[in-house]
Amino acid sequence: MNALAATRRNFEVTDLEPVLARSVTVLGSTGSIGVSTLDVVVHARKAYGEHAMPVEALTAQSNVDGLIKQAQAVRPKVAVIGDDSLYGRLKDGLGGTGIAVAAGRNAVIEAAARSSDTVMVAIMGAAALEPALAAVARNATVALANKECIVAAGAVFHRALANSTAAVIPVDSEHNAVFQVLNGEGAREVEKVTLTASGGPFRDWTLDQMAVCTVEQAVAHPNWSMGAKISVDSATLMNKGLELIEAHFLFGLPPEKLDVLVHPQSIVHCLVSYEDGSTLAHLSAPDMRTPIAHALAWPRRIASPSRRLDLAAVGQLTFRKPDHERFRCLGLAMDAMRIGRLAPTILNAANEIAVDAFLKKRIGFLDIPRVVEETLAESPEANTTADTLDGVLAADARARDRADDVCRRVVN
Ligand code: NAD
Ligand code: MG
Repeated sequence: MNALAATRRNFEVTDLEPVLARSVTVLGSTGSIGVSTLDVVVHARKAYGEHAMPVEALTAQSNVDGLIKQAQAVRPKVAVIGDDSLYGRLKDGLGGTGIAVAAGRNAVIEAAARSSDTVMVAIMGAAALEPALAAVARNATVALANKECIVAAGAVFHRALANSTAAVIPVDSEHNAVFQVLNGEGAREVEKVTLTASGGPFRDWTLDQMAVCTVEQAVAHPNWSMGAKISVDSATLMNKGLELIEAHFLFGLPPEKLDVLVHPQSIVHCLVSYEDGSTLAHLSAPDMRTPIAHALAWPRRIASPSRRLDLAAVGQLTFRKPDHERFRCLGLAMDAMRIGRLAPTILNAANEIAVDAFLKKRIGFLDIPRVVEETLAESPEANTTADTLDGVLAADARARDRADDVCRRVVN
């Protein structure tokens, strides 16, 4: 047998049973990533049998009817609603099913701490931080879709990982793509990692047009269907800025080895360039069920219901540099990544407040970078460090208050 054949044999998937027997908890199951995750689970059960991918726990914040329907369909051991005023409705909705119910912030964290093999972290925003850390603390495999928690608390997250045997499998499409390309090898010989960005709905808009855009226009992403917050982040390019910081922490890459290219078709998700001049890319149709299926089955692969890539139909793949003048959030995030310390925490908190204010029509679209920039400028602790979770949460809370004040100021 030649060397190539031997290598190929090692990559053959012969026994999926251990992968299919893994139990899964989905935090944020009613969101865009949560729904796609359950789609992958249901598909696996159809393809491999009803026993595949038992669900330990589902959590949602306020969509109690959606949570009830999901629980009836995939039969978790427990369903948790974050908003505790909805406990009665959840209990009634799942009465007689044998599925346990719970409510409140602590119950969400406890759901992450229950013994499942894999925890999909699909909660939106820095609210995912404590549940994600609870999963890391009990050595779970953490399928990490949420990026805000690692941006807000990269160092704390790293320390928690160093003290556990938990594995983090990135689900964010670009990071999952880098993870697949690196294939378990370190990033030492890597010269550059390039994350691609679709450019969002305002890719070709002028600043004057963006100044008067509506919420509906900002959340109408051309290639991906996502939650409202990440859709606005994609429109400002803050999403790509957060992703650079996410890649910095996940792969241990210094800021100067990280780059962004605008790629409107969202087919190539990353480019990894090596010292010898080789560049490896990862391609797929823009469908989150592909990285989700990869993360749930890693290091094997399972069948997924995701759209397949048809390059002949796509026709052309194009690339260009991002425009920092029209999309200032990208530069603000890059600056925060270079400063490090608490700057990414404050950047993220200010952005969450600004995006929420924009979605509630309190501020305009171009006020988002203003709020982030002014909050950072008014936060001297951006240059200081916080070694503990409490320290990070306190800095996050202060930045949110400050950003709220700035929001009030920019509209007056
Ligand atoms: P979403 O808004 O559609 O869903 C968020 C989920 O989190 C919901 O189930 C909601 O009930 C829950 N949630 C919201 N606030 C919560 C809180 N305070 N406590 C507990 N639960 C809460 O968001 P999404 O688009 O699915 O994104 C989820 C995460 O995944 C985000 O961090 C996002 O950046 C990341 N991500 C999403 C995509 C995508 O395609 N949607 C791609 C890459 C990364
Ligand atoms: Mg992404």
